[in-house]
Amino acid sequence: MRRPVIAGNWKMHKLIAEAIQTVVHLKPLVAQVTHCEIVVAPPFTALWAVAQQLEGSNIMIAAQDVCDVNGFGARTGEISALMLRDAGCEYVIIGHSERRQFYGETDELVRRKIGAALEAGLKPIVCVGETLEERDAGRAEAVVTRQVEAALSGLSPGEVSRLLIAYEPVWAIGTGRTASPAQAQAMHACIRQRVASLLGQEVADGLRILYGGSIRPDNIRPLMAEPDIDGALVGGASLDPQSFSEIVQYR
Ligand code: PEP
Repeated sequence: MRRPVIAGNWKMHKLIAEAIQTVVHLKPLVAQVTHCEIVVAPPFTALWAVAQQLEGSNIMIAAQDVCDVNGFGARTGEISALMLRDAGCEYVIIGHSERRQFYGETDELVRRKIGAALEAGLKPIVCVGETLEERDAGRAEAVVTRQVEAALSGLSPGEVSRLLIAYEPVWAIGTGRTASPAQAQAMHACIRQRVASLLGQEVADGLRILYGGSIRPDNIRPLMAEPDIDGALVGGASLDPQSFSEIVQYR
């Protein structure tokens, strides 16, 4: 049984006071939810304040990025996995397409960040996904498979069992254009199959694969009904506590 995860990626939104207000609103709306894990990913500056508010609740915290080197050191501007744990994070989003696109993150850097996160006991949510151009060229599966293989290279089955993959087609992020449930299911099944051939069926069967890309309260249900979709990574619609709580309560 794979426990679903609904995660909200706030990206570069919300000052500290608004971040606090958001979770103060969200907490009672989802307090009765037991069918899935609930995660919010505030910007770095609000992590600690949000963590204080969420103590004892059923909402967990993710960071949106992490340094590829764990611990302390001469890495001006970076934040290590150890520091994120200290600030109250349980999860960390790694390799989001916006980081790959705007900050040149490579498969190799993503892999190093996964290693640093695992070392500190964080659960990585590893983002993969093809661009529209790659899909139109019939290369979607090849691109995503390459990203998955690079992300998992050299990891043990035990390590892979502590991470999640988020399939986020780049053409569906922030565009209002969602992958159809059939399109998403096909890619999720392909990812699972690849993981099975790399690390065995048991690891693949336990791996949670989230879908992300313009998820809203009115399109989450059919996606979550697909057998290989184990949750959602939600951007825009996670900023509003009401709409995020409706997504969390997809069933
Ligand atoms: C995301 O940022 O991961 C995302 C899926 O964004 P949106 O839901 O706004 O498309």
